[in-house]
Amino acid sequence: MQQKLFIYNTLSRKKEEFKAIDPPLVGMYVCGPTVYSDVHLGNCRTFISFDLIFRYLTHLGYKVRYVRNITDAGHLEGDTDEGEDKISKKAKLAQLEPMEIVQKYSVDFHDVMQIFNVKPPSIEPTATGHIIEQIELVKTVLEKGFAYEVNGSVYFDVEKYNQHHNYGILSNRNLEDMLNNTRNLGGQEEKRGKLDFALWIKAKPEHLMKWPSPWSSGFPGWHLECSAMSNKYLGEQFDIHGGGMDLAPTHHTNEIAQNEAACGKMPANYWIHTNMLTVNGQKMSKSLGNSFLPQELFSGNHSLLNKGFSPMTVRFFMLQAHYRSTLDFSNDALDASEKGFKRLMNAFALAPTLKASAAGEIEITPLQQRCYEAMNDDFNSPVLIAELFEVCRLVNSVHDQKLKIDQPNLELLQQLLQHFVIDVLGLRDESAASDELPKVLDFVINLRSQAKTNQDYATSDKIRKGLQEIGYQLKDSKEGTSWTKI
Ligand SMILES: [Zn+2]
Repeated sequence: MQQKLFIYNTLSRKKEEFKAIDPPLVGMYVCGPTVYSDVHLGNCRTFISFDLIFRYLTHLGYKVRYVRNITDAGHLEGDTDEGEDKISKKAKLAQLEPMEIVQKYSVDFHDVMQIFNVKPPSIEPTATGHIIEQIELVKTVLEKGFAYEVNGSVYFDVEKYNQHHNYGILSNRNLEDMLNNTRNLGGQEEKRGKLDFALWIKAKPEHLMKWPSPWSSGFPGWHLECSAMSNKYLGEQFDIHGGGMDLAPTHHTNEIAQNEAACGKMPANYWIHTNMLTVNGQKMSKSLGNSFLPQELFSGNHSLLNKGFSPMTVRFFMLQAHYRSTLDFSNDALDASEKGFKRLMNAFALAPTLKASAAGEIEITPLQQRCYEAMNDDFNSPVLIAELFEVCRLVNSVHDQKLKIDQPNLELLQQLLQHFVIDVLGLRDESAASDELPKVLDFVINLRSQAKTNQDYATSDKIRKGLQEIGYQLKDSKEGTSWTKI
């Protein structure tokens, strides 16, 4: 933790030095998925971005409590307070219990996260598991005078709140602009102001997921769960709150309002937002027919894809763009990432086989410094990857005996690859038994050397040709035999 880490904070709209409230502890809350359908690639990008942040903070020595919720109730269609609960609607269509829908898509979500090598959060709370906490929060906001009850529903009074606080602090807008740019939605007659949002909604008789409360049998508003659960597990004030950028103008804005109204404090010091995905320059959306599921991307089974791409190629591709930039999916870009990923993993596999020389020509420390500088500049993974390609070049040059490296620098180089490729970028070699592969190859190479020593050239040739057929080229030199993946 010697170098300073800078994070772009949506609150201030600039990069700020990261100062944890109580180092080495760091509290991070990220809004998780609503589990009513297959996980969207845009969501995958968000969670891969926060995985990078979680991994890097951990690598720096912070003890991160990472909370990422599962929304399993209260998220209505259109993200407003109207319409049906997304999960209940799906349950009715499929003639299943809402909790069957929740279970199915939670399991699917975890599977996809595991395929992308995304580490699980420290705590993964659910909205339905925290109804009591949410009711308590509604009571507090009512007591503080920033909410009102109408016919069994409770609404947050945005205009009153804005007299004491800045409601548009996150989106950098004033209330008048927001009022002028908000449509009058139908069914809003219970609300005093058109920006007001529901904290508790009285359930209609046909509504499937409802709980008793002091106001009605109903369910919490969507924004409430994140305020209640971040407060419960990370305290009234914690370090980082994140999510997709589409959440900032409403969901996160309302979260801040609820927390400030209840506790008088801004819940998180740093607000991090990830950008969205585009496909051939167009926004990815189901209605445009250009969105695909992770499985379609892996199999290539989609009209926009020329072929399938492995999960680690997709992860690498996503990390080649900065999390705050849009990321455009195209076959050409994915092809380029596939080559880049292979180059990086070949170097990673080759590094443990390199031989040190008595005197070297390579200094790894400046390169290591640049890798940290990249990540300390708002988690700039594309710059980090460019530095790692320089490491690949050195690995190949040492392997081809064009450059010499001494033992301390060789160890530093191997450590650098382990830290940044595996620990921070979270990439893994997808070839079978990748960890053991160099050892197995060394073992086979030793057998071949013994055969040659015994003048058993038939066997030594057979080994060389056999390895070549499965994609490994052997190269003999004075120092011994080395291998490369063809
Ligand atoms: Zn949230």
